[in-house]
Amino acid sequence: MSLDPQTLLVVSVTNLLALAVLLPVIMGKRLSPAARAARLSLIVHAGAWIAVILSEQVAPDWANRLLSTLSMAGYGTSHWLLFRALSEWLGERAGGRLLGGLAIALPIGYLLLFDSYSARVGWANLLIALQLAILCYATLRPRSALRGSWRFALLTCFATMGVLTLARGVLGAFYPELYPNFAAPHPVNVASLLVANVAMVLANVSLLVAWREEAELRLEALVLTDPLTTLLNRRGWEKHGERTFALARRHNQPLALLSFDLDHFKAINDQRGHEAGDAALRLFGKLLHSQQRQEDVVARIGGEEFCALLPLAGNAATQRYDARLRRLLADMAPAELGYPLDFSTGLACLESGDTTLEDLRRRSDAALYRAKAAGRGQLSE
Ligand code: GH3
Ligand code: MG
Ligand code: MG
Repeated sequence: MSLDPQTLLVVSVTNLLALAVLLPVIMGKRLSPAARAARLSLIVHAGAWIAVILSEQVAPDWANRLLSTLSMAGYGTSHWLLFRALSEWLGERAGGRLLGGLAIALPIGYLLLFDSYSARVGWANLLIALQLAILCYATLRPRSALRGSWRFALLTCFATMGVLTLARGVLGAFYPELYPNFAAPHPVNVASLLVANVAMVLANVSLLVAWREEAELRLEALVLTDPLTTLLNRRGWEKHGERTFALARRHNQPLALLSFDLDHFKAINDQRGHEAGDAALRLFGKLLHSQQRQEDVVARIGGEEFCALLPLAGNAATQRYDARLRRLLADMAPAELGYPLDFSTGLACLESGDTTLEDLRRRSDAALYRAKAAGRGQLSE
């Protein structure tokens, strides 16, 4: 059985077109920026293939030039869009500028070199292979919260396509008689077209899985977040707090837990209304956010009760942290709420007897009770 490149080409483009038309319908309108970039990349990619096929059919030289240059612009842009999608999903990646530069240089150089078949084919395939190499790196590094196996499927697609594209470039540049056009029956070309077909399906499935993983992570974050203050909620506190607690215990490092409770909060609700109460909670949340270091775990545990877990913080540093909160709130509350707001704090530092986060929390709660009993608006240990 021999595989006919022309047929492979038609099958690839039909598949790609079907995906490009159907995916927007399937995915709907409410897309994340990453999913939107990935989908647009597919549509542009399909456009590039159509331009390639049309360029082989048209007779006037200028039309051939225009269509093949457009197809190069399409390939370059679709790879750049994929890079954008990866950066949105996985966080900032290296090489974006270079990849964008290659997307611009690709059609310009192709048009300038058009009169030499070897030069233009070598140029185009080399630049596309370089783009694919950057995409390979971008699927892996730096590591990120999204770690599904879709990244390895995508990497496989980019890597195989990159190697075959480079091989096509070498053929076109140095052995043009073996690769005189896009549908040449050379084994490298047949393999490229076959792999392109598989890669297209695999890459699209990977991108859909990435999109689903993104939605899952967003939902998980939502489940762990308190909507009023955007701090962690009790569930988030348990998840992140227990991990931080275990780490501090394992490495025998200091860890401080502060329990906060707003003073006379019921009176705010009663006298100024529930909305005013909510505004006070939001302000206190904003205050805690503003003083949070990356490794701190800060949560709204319930009604007007908050907790902060400070890794590597000793007793004195934690007391300074609490004093800073008091100073800041004394300024912020009259300015932003129109009345003063105060809070009581219970402090507990990790001791060898604390085997669970709950043990530490129980001690900080007892300290909070003492702060309330001692007249509120202060910290107790
Ligand atoms: P203390 O100084 O002893 O802490 O007294 P307090 O009035 O602050 O404490 P208490 O526990 O008596 O009242 C807490 C109030 O917080 C009661 C509840 O209606 C209110 N509350 C709980 N959750 C919310 C909320 O999400 N929004 C608002 N506005 N109020 C809430
Ligand atoms: Mg309370
Ligand atoms: Mg209270």
